[in-house]
Amino acid sequence: MDIISTREMLLNAKKNQYAVPAFNIHNLETMQAVLEGAWEMKSPVIIATTPGTVKYAGMDYLAAMAKVGAKRYNIPIALHLDHCPDVDFLKECIYAGYKSVMIDASLKDYEDNIRITKDVVEFAHRYDVTVEAELGVVGGAEDERKVDEKDTMLTDPQVALDFVKKTNIDSLAVAIGTAHGVYKLEPKLDFERLIKMNEMIEVPLVLHGASGVPSDAIKKAVEYGICKVNIATELKLPFAEKIKNYFKENPQANDPRKYITPAKEAAKEVVIEKIKICGSENRA
Ligand SMILES: [Zn+2]
Repeated sequence: MDIISTREMLLNAKKNQYAVPAFNIHNLETMQAVLEGAWEMKSPVIIATTPGTVKYAGMDYLAAMAKVGAKRYNIPIALHLDHCPDVDFLKECIYAGYKSVMIDASLKDYEDNIRITKDVVEFAHRYDVTVEAELGVVGGAEDERKVDEKDTMLTDPQVALDFVKKTNIDSLAVAIGTAHGVYKLEPKLDFERLIKMNEMIEVPLVLHGASGVPSDAIKKAVEYGICKVNIATELKLPFAEKIKNYFKENPQANDPRKYITPAKEAAKEVVIEKIKICGSENRA
C-alpha cells in the first residue's frame, strides 16, 4: 500500500466506535517504533509530524520513510502534518506527498480562522488530502506554540457546528480540557460537551494533548465520539529515559545502534498500549 489520507480511517473509526492513534515521531527510529507496533497490533495508524519536526528531518525524507513503511506493512498508514499555522508550508508538505494536514489558525479570530481553513480545505481536497482544524484552544506547549493555561478555551458546540459547515473540514480537534505536554494536575475532561458535539457534528472529532490523561478517560472520550487520539509526549519520555539510562550505565558508549535500540523498544511498547486504549487493534 501507499500512505493514505485519514478520510476512510476516521470514518471507519467513527462508525465502529474506536479511535485511530496519531503518534508524533521525530526520526527514523521513532517512526519504526510506531509502524512496528501498529503492524503487530494490526491497527491503522497516523504518523504525525509537527512543522518543527518537518524542518528538522525534511519533508521529503519523512514522506519517503512513511512510504517505505506503507509498502512494508499491510495496514492503513497516514502521514499527517500536525498543527501547521503556515499555509505555504502546508502546501509544500502536500506537494511532498503528505495526505493529511492540520491547519491551525485557532489562535486567530473566528472569521479569519474560517477563511484560512476554508481556503486550505479547497486546496487540499484537490489533491485528495484530508484537513483537520482546531476550534477552541488546547493549552500547553507544542513546537513553538505555547498557550498559557488562562488562555485555553473549551470548544463551544454551536460554534463548532457553524465552523464545520463553513469550512468543510474533514475532522475537528476539540478542546475539552486536555493540554499539550506534561500535566501538573490530572486533567478533567468535559464529557458532556463532547457528547453534545458528537451529536451535532458529523465529521470525526479529534483529541489533542492526550499524553498523561488516564486511560479510562481516553476510553470514555472514544466511547463518546473521539475518533483520533494524538500522542506525543508519552513517546518522548520513555525514549529519552532509556537513552539517559543507557549512558548512565555505559558512559563510554558511542554506537547509536546500541543506545537507541532500548529507546525504540520502549516507544514501541507505548504504541501498543495506546492502540489497546484506542480500541484500534485488529481494525487494519
Ligand atoms: Zn495538538
